[in-house]
Amino acid sequence: MTAAPSPLHIALSLAAHGVPPLPLRAGKVPFGNCPACAKNACGGRPNMKSAGPCLCPDVCHAWAAATTDTRILTSPAWEAAWRRAVAVAYHPGGAGVTVVDLDTPNAVAWARETLPATRTVPTTRGEHWIYRGVMRSANAVRPGVDVKSLMQYARWLGPGTGRMTALSPAVRALVVKEDTNPAPAGLASSSVPARAPWSRSVATGCRHTERYVRTGLERGLTLVSARTESGAGSQAFGVARFLAAQHAQCPGPCALDVIGEEIVAAAVAVGVPEDYARRAVTNGLNTGRGAAA
Ligand SMILES: [Zn+2]
Ligand SMILES: [Zn+2]
Ligand SMILES: [Zn+2]
Repeated sequence: MTAAPSPLHIALSLAAHGVPPLPLRAGKVPFGNCPACAKNACGGRPNMKSAGPCLCPDVCHAWAAATTDTRILTSPAWEAAWRRAVAVAYHPGGAGVTVVDLDTPNAVAWARETLPATRTVPTTRGEHWIYRGVMRSANAVRPGVDVKSLMQYARWLGPGTGRMTALSPAVRALVVKEDTNPAPAGLASSSVPARAPWSRSVATGCRHTERYVRTGLERGLTLVSARTESGAGSQAFGVARFLAAQHAQCPGPCALDVIGEEIVAAAVAVGVPEDYARRAVTNGLNTGRGAAA
């Protein structure tokens, strides 16, 4: 009867319903960043986890580019992308929803037994279950199950069927569980050998005063120590990233590894296994250095 609507046509109709779309290129993945935004050199967009100043007119930063602004969706840079697009995606968090992406028939069967009924959309091998409300995203929360909401994109495969219900504790628990402090393996992992605290004498290339660094570190350690039930690993990552970014303009060395050890020790003290804490802190330090560079 009628030709299939173009990606831009779908996008404009989504935007009109408050759903921020983005184009997907061959391979059904987001378009790569433009040269100015390559490897996040621009610092990232204001809505990203570490908010940056990027107002690049291109289709950059994957989900973070998704918008309901029709002037942007129809701008020359985006028009060019829509013409090459093979599919349309959207930012579920920006639309106020959460997508439980069930990638296999087994995952769908599990959801039917476990999760509250809601609107469903058929996918190639499984189903998207769409809930009202937003939450943190996480991949592989179970075999074949991803949770896509904030800071993620999902394929747009049509409006689906069924009445959309609100996010329930059962769905939220899929991700919260992952963020709970893993139980320490035993007493042996519950303490990290004390090391020398950060001081100017080890940080010979640091621009900051000892007082500035210690105050920031103490605040960060307090945040980690407060996470006695859950999230201490994530908090350690966030604190490490924040503190490392403070030294992006220092000639160095700033002895960030010493700062990192103190964060690891604080996380281990509230039950995070040492290797897990160390990984979180190392990633945080590296991200912080990179983000502000
Ligand atoms: Zn760009
Ligand atoms: Zn950018
Ligand atoms: Zn420094």
